Amino acid sequence: SIKLQGITKDFADKQVVKGVSLDVPDGEFLVLLGPSGCGKSTLLRMLAGLESISSGEIHINERRVDELPPTERDIAFVFQSYALYPHMTVRRNIAFPLIMRQHRWWFHIPLLGGMAKRRIERSPEVSQLVERTARTLALTEWLDKFPRTLSGGQRQRVALGRAMVRQPQVFLMDEPLSNLDAKLRTTMRSEITKLHQRVGGTFVYVTHDQVEAMTMGTRIALLKDGIVQQFGTPRDIYEQPANLYVARFIGTPP
Ligand code: ATP
Ligand code: MG
Repeated sequence: SIKLQGITKDFADKQVVKGVSLDVPDGEFLVLLGPSGCGKSTLLRMLAGLESISSGEIHINERRVDELPPTERDIAFVFQSYALYPHMTVRRNIAFPLIMRQHRWWFHIPLLGGMAKRRIERSPEVSQLVERTARTLALTEWLDKFPRTLSGGQRQRVALGRAMVRQPQVFLMDEPLSNLDAKLRTTMRSEITKLHQRVGGTFVYVTHDQVEAMTMGTRIALLKDGIVQQFGTPRDIYEQPANLYVARFIGTPP
């Protein structure tokens, strides 16, 4: 579950998030929707701990986390600008979170560490998860390639795979499908929805595409200039828009 209470963000002289409060129970798929510049990424980055908050409180799974670093928030995330490990194969990139889960100090010794990591990577449990993730993302034939030989869309899918492989309880995504072609985007939407149904938990998904919001979200928060205009189910928002802005945004084709 995620609870935001009066979150604000000031950059120098400008407030870009202006008191956002949202209560998202376990099992919900929240979409943060709104036009470019409305503060979606900033809000998500504050949730992830990549950006400090100016005021307010953030609770993830009943624990106050706004003072904690990203690594201690029990979340997985994929952002607009993603980074893969250039010296690792696609397989190792995807498996990496699972390998590091079993981290030992000798991982840092060149030869010994390499052998230990390879053993974990090849264990039935890890290789099955990695291969299933790769199948989902249409990356099977790229597993033994290096990131520099991949297209932008393929790299984006590897980043998504690296986050998905942990089957996270809280999963934050910032326009993770923006580099993909229309067909793959449709497939990936339903794969992310399936992942959410499989693991339960709380997902937060940022997009400016109302179709994506309507098809994926169980809850939508529509933002304008750092303020939530409406928070509700896709049906609420579609059938009872709170104001003219919401009605226009939802009614306008992308
Ligand atoms: P998009 O759909 O284009 O990704 P967004 O809704 O994600 O937009 P944000 O990236 O959150 O928007 O930006 C919200 C506002 O905050 C913008 O006006 C942006 O210029 C400003 N902003 C974001 N990051 C910074 C920063 N580090 N310093 C100053 N201003 C910033
Ligand atoms: Mg953004």
